[in-house]
Amino acid sequence: MTEPEDPSRERLKQHFAQRVIHQARQILEIWQRLQRSEWSDADFSELSEANLRLLRFAERFEQPEHGQLAQHIGESLKAVDANRGRLSSQLITEINRLMQRLSRTGLRQGDQLEQTFLPPMRKPIYVMLADHDRAERLAKQLEFFGLSAQSLDDVAAYRVAMAERLPSAIVMDVDFCGPGLGLQLAAEAQQGLEQKLPLLFFSLHETDTPTRLAAVRAGGEEFLTGTLEASSLLEKIEVLTCVAQYDPYKVLIIDDSRAQALHTERLLNSAGIITRTLIEPIQAMAELADFQPDLIILDMYMPACTGTELAKVIRHNDRYVSVPIIYLSAEDDLDKQLDAMSEGGDDFLTKPIKPRHLITTVRNRAARARNLKARMVRDSLTGLYNHTHILQLLEDCTFRARRENKPLSFAMLDIDHFKRVNDSHGHPMGDRVIKSLALFLKQRLRKTDYIGRYGGEEFAIVMPDTDLESACKVLDEIRGRFAEIHYPAQPHDLWCTFSAGLVELCDDSDSLMMAAQADEALYRAKDAGRNRVQAAHTSSQSAIFSPESSDSVITL
Ligand code: GH3
Ligand code: MG
Ligand code: MG
Repeated sequence: MTEPEDPSRERLKQHFAQRVIHQARQILEIWQRLQRSEWSDADFSELSEANLRLLRFAERFEQPEHGQLAQHIGESLKAVDANRGRLSSQLITEINRLMQRLSRTGLRQGDQLEQTFLPPMRKPIYVMLADHDRAERLAKQLEFFGLSAQSLDDVAAYRVAMAERLPSAIVMDVDFCGPGLGLQLAAEAQQGLEQKLPLLFFSLHETDTPTRLAAVRAGGEEFLTGTLEASSLLEKIEVLTCVAQYDPYKVLIIDDSRAQALHTERLLNSAGIITRTLIEPIQAMAELADFQPDLIILDMYMPACTGTELAKVIRHNDRYVSVPIIYLSAEDDLDKQLDAMSEGGDDFLTKPIKPRHLITTVRNRAARARNLKARMVRDSLTGLYNHTHILQLLEDCTFRARRENKPLSFAMLDIDHFKRVNDSHGHPMGDRVIKSLALFLKQRLRKTDYIGRYGGEEFAIVMPDTDLESACKVLDEIRGRFAEIHYPAQPHDLWCTFSAGLVELCDDSDSLMMAAQADEALYRAKDAGRNRVQAAHTSSQSAIFSPESSDSVITL
């Protein structure tokens, strides 16, 4: 055991350690700029310098996690240098992985090791409502969703909290501590801040346009009225505080000329886009399945087949109907270009092409395709993957798990006695419970897990790189926490539980078998009394995780 440190010294240390976070943010911002423009030497040196500063601060303020990341980033930047200042797909992937980790790394405070990995977003949310009890309840509910939230009762407490630590978002009643005072307080807080805080205003009653205008001018990004629900509030906060996505676009280049393909790759890599080249068009389908590109760049004339023929073949597969295909060719006959476009192509670019033109076209097309795809594969009520897509993801993951020799788990969840919720509280209440479980799962599971709505009140979760035992543990923890959520309802509050069936990928199984086994395990969980997580009977182990008190099914 170490001696407890002097609290004021500890506070001071923390204060300085904030500089490390600030420096990390700066690096993330520079890297994100790459997603918007071309990479230049100036960007490169700016990033290198910022990284050196991070390294220095991390050492001085004893933040080993940041120090290690800065070191790795430094090594990758050296590799870029050795590559004559050029980014390659491999380097983009590597640096991106480090940036992702950096964005999730929080400060090490004292000896509380469990706080090492707190992402920047885990800064508290300050909740200021005219109704203090309500603020308190709301903060508690947000905590259930894995956020830290703090309700503040008066102006003094608010000022102290703001001076001590800036929150990740503010929820402010326009009438906090007096009519219109909330508006003023929030506006005051935003002044002088380089980066504005996500600010959500609330008013118990519908308000007039001048109030809403004042809210907009104070920097309010949302205006909520009436009932303030934790789950919908959380959804808004997530959007506003969303730490930028580190998910570079992926482009598959199909061209029989290696030199041409290399040229295109270099241009796209310089804009942070990951590429893969295929010289043999015949392997296109296997490559598509493996790489899952956001967009395809296709040569018009190749020895084995023409670009238009290949485009048709690609379009025959349902999964690739909406992947944009751009022809890149020296063909300048407009009629031929138009013919090619009507054969499954989306755009035609003529060589030689200006780098900016190519990059912009690729980026815009890829962005739209991603947007569209997100809508196609998602369930509209919850925003989770739909039935078809989650099964596709499970299949993809089984292939990857085998190739990389890693474990893979799959779970199926079903809310217990859900019919009763609908019957006694109405369908809209049922929908709310489904949405809140969806959100709860998103909050509690890892970003690398895939969550789907399998059907009505059934969910499916694909957990890559997770063995049965860890999956059981995680799900059982979620099960317990979910059962604690109370939904305000008449005549009394409502709470729900779920049951889950779990399976791990084994040698002689595939995605369809996994789905069937998880379903069977779920059935047994229900049979054994619900509110429990049950592992499937496979050749490997079988375990049951049950609640502390077995009679904790819902009471309505
Ligand atoms: P069990 O514990 O055995 O799962 O009982 P249960 O009542 O949950 O199971 P059952 O499958 O009999 O009923 C599921 C109910 O879920 C029936 C259906 O009305 C309801 N449901 C399905 N989809 C939705 C939806 O999108 N919204 C709402 N509100 N209810 C739905
Ligand atoms: Mg069901
Ligand atoms: Mg059910």
